[in-house]
Amino acid sequence: MVAALCLLSQAVLAAGEVRHTISFPQDKEQLLQVRSVFPVSAPLTELTMPNWTPGSYLIRDYAANVNSISAVSADGAPLAVQKVSKDRWQVDTRQTNTLVVDYVVFTPEINVSTSWASREFSLINGTSVFLYTGQTRDLPQLLAVVSDQDRGQVFSAMSNTSDAGVFRVANYDELVDNPVAVARAPVYRFSHDSQEYVLLNVGENEFWDGVQAARDVEKIVAGTQSFWGANPLKRPYWFMNFIVEGKGGLEHDQSTVVMTGRRQMRDRKDYVKWLGTIAHEFFHVWNVRHMRPLDLAQYDYQNEQYTSELWLAEGLTSYYDNLLLSRAGLITPKEYMELLASDIYQLETTPGRLLRPVTEASLDAWIRHYQPNPNTLNSTISYYIKGAVIGFVLDTHLRKNSKGRHDLDEVMRKMYSLYSSRPYSAEAFEKTVVEVGGAEAGKLLRTLTTTTVEPDVDAALDWYGLELNRGAVLITGEQGEAPLRSDLGILWDSKIPGMVVSAVLDGRSGSAAGLMAGDEVLAIGGERLTPERLESLLSSFEPGERTELIISRRDRILRLDITLDTAIPDHYDIILQPDFERHDITRLQSLLGQDPRKQP
Ligand SMILES: [Zn+2]
Repeated sequence: MVAALCLLSQAVLAAGEVRHTISFPQDKEQLLQVRSVFPVSAPLTELTMPNWTPGSYLIRDYAANVNSISAVSADGAPLAVQKVSKDRWQVDTRQTNTLVVDYVVFTPEINVSTSWASREFSLINGTSVFLYTGQTRDLPQLLAVVSDQDRGQVFSAMSNTSDAGVFRVANYDELVDNPVAVARAPVYRFSHDSQEYVLLNVGENEFWDGVQAARDVEKIVAGTQSFWGANPLKRPYWFMNFIVEGKGGLEHDQSTVVMTGRRQMRDRKDYVKWLGTIAHEFFHVWNVRHMRPLDLAQYDYQNEQYTSELWLAEGLTSYYDNLLLSRAGLITPKEYMELLASDIYQLETTPGRLLRPVTEASLDAWIRHYQPNPNTLNSTISYYIKGAVIGFVLDTHLRKNSKGRHDLDEVMRKMYSLYSSRPYSAEAFEKTVVEVGGAEAGKLLRTLTTTTVEPDVDAALDWYGLELNRGAVLITGEQGEAPLRSDLGILWDSKIPGMVVSAVLDGRSGSAAGLMAGDEVLAIGGERLTPERLESLLSSFEPGERTELIISRRDRILRLDITLDTAIPDHYDIILQPDFERHDITRLQSLLGQDPRKQP
């Protein structure tokens, strides 16, 4: 480790490479000390810090976390550094051909896209840490990370040099596409078809069974590799699993970072979510990393890169993550139906689906999906959710119209064979769908992606002998027998004590009554409202009944009249049709990779 530091501290460097050294200041947590040595050839050199991390479409202004920055020449003479914009510094490099820059980066949050430095564990995402110059983005880069026994080992999917703790990559893009973990953590290695994989479990605890998790990841790997039939991986692939808090994952060419809760494996539903995240991120190796929209072909780390294809890159990945879990036998058919029903439920209960086509939702990811506000549900639709439902409806169309000879799997593989070596244009997917499934399939795809016409999930489910139960509340309502649950047509903020409105859904009673996000509802019909009393209070009213709300808005007490809605059920179910046995069971079997009649 010490040898590594010395190697990269040398100011004189081999021409044509950039050397970065990261160490951890001893006197304070959450900081990274960075030294970067650049070859320079111009009188003025501009240092740039990225503003976002590819795969996570949000301007994060990483330069805001750079605490201090200084520069010297090869022989240690101080060089003048001047900040010229929010993400750039200029250095006077007339007198030197080597620029040594020292700076400190603060790491504000634990997140798959950014960096976090602590004695317990550290995650380094290069875009939030490394500077580049106009001349050096394409040069080979060396990285040394200096740890100690206390902090633990340095892990990354990058190629190691002969010096311990020193990695080498071909260019800046590769440097920032390879996250680094520093921790005392177990690794689980396995190989499949001569390709090596590593599962790193940072924060593994008594609630996490590392051996079982590795066995399940191996099944996902086997199923996904066999789905695509072509392996683009060049080195061992790393699943960097942070069992620390939070959720989510971020895909890279040779690795993924996944975050999960400490007790995630103790609850079956939570564990299935984790398996789904692993399947999702690994599917991205093909869909979005090696097969990429033209808009994202070359990353611009400083500015928003707009693409209309996130329903394909993210949404179809979301369609396949759960499906591949079923085909790998990791979830039962019943569990798969629950996940599909949940996607349909989320789509159909989001008012914004009627306002914005999924292509535009994708383009707006930067200002909507990644910057949600109380109106987001009314103004946009998740390209993950709608993309997954489009995947199901389109896949079913392809299967149905070809009597099972063609499917979406074939489209995806064909796309990969055409576009793994060059990026695809906005028209490419539709063209491929038409080639596989004919003009009708292309038209369906275009309608579902560029308009707000609702995907016909009922017809698609019917072809498999399935049906969607949209909730007992509505069905019993038609009979007029069972008491209907009513509601206010709003969402509650679960993070604040009290009954505070987080969103008011368009077209429902709360909106008509004049409720606003941030209102605290104190009473309904003269009765005090508390979280415990919500259910019983609302069931005491019939939908359509009028009553009065007492609310607190910016500390003023107001009264609002409301006509209560019929409650939206809290979930949907997909069930086998009563005469399912008379259907062609092989249809569903072929989709799920297992016998649909199998119960958990
Ligand atoms: Zn994704």
